[in-house]
Amino acid sequence: MDRFIVASHNKKKLAELTRILKPMGFDVVCPSDILGGVPDVEETGTTFEENALLKARSACECSGFPAVADDSGLCVDALDGAPGIYSARFAGTGLDEDNNVLLLEKLNGLPVEKRTARFVSCIACVFPDGREFTVRGACEGYIATEPQGDGGFGYDPLFVTEFGCFGTMTAEEKDKVSHRHNAIVLFKEKLKDYI
Ligand code: IMP
Repeated sequence: MDRFIVASHNKKKLAELTRILKPMGFDVVCPSDILGGVPDVEETGTTFEENALLKARSACECSGFPAVADDSGLCVDALDGAPGIYSARFAGTGLDEDNNVLLLEKLNGLPVEKRTARFVSCIACVFPDGREFTVRGACEGYIATEPQGDGGFGYDPLFVTEFGCFGTMTAEEKDKVSHRHNAIVLFKEKLKDYI
């Protein structure tokens, strides 16, 4: 079995990555399992890929395990791709609820056909010998005019796909179609070239 440390301090994201990776046969180690922990990395990159690599490199260095990290976000067409890599920090408070309120304000009055958006997940994989790669998955949808459901995290209550709103989906339903799932499928395929 391949053992990876999943480098995320976001508990919900960590849980999501773990429950997708485990059934694929990967053994997952969390940052809290590592003596001394894994420091929070400043996301100074200008792309999802750069930020994912920063997180994975740090976790690999601290743990000695191959590391997997996700950098993800919501890209809204009417906002020229914002909040993008700044999704977690959009409203400046770090609170999902505030981010959602700000997003609704910015799109206020826009008809549904102009509310198109996609979630992007970039997964970086870094090995102790220095090899590294990234993959990117996406999930298309649009931004609702009010929150729906209380499932998931982040912008889930506002993100509607052809399969329904992420906020009203069960974890299993979201895992089948999410940007993170799509990135992990690509990750698994690419990993074959590295092991
Ligand atoms: P990161 O931890 O820097 O990658 O920031 C990711 C941010 O993007 C999260 O805090 C959420 O605001 C948003 N995000 C990423 N993936 C999802 C998702 O699956 N559902 C809802 N929001 C997400």
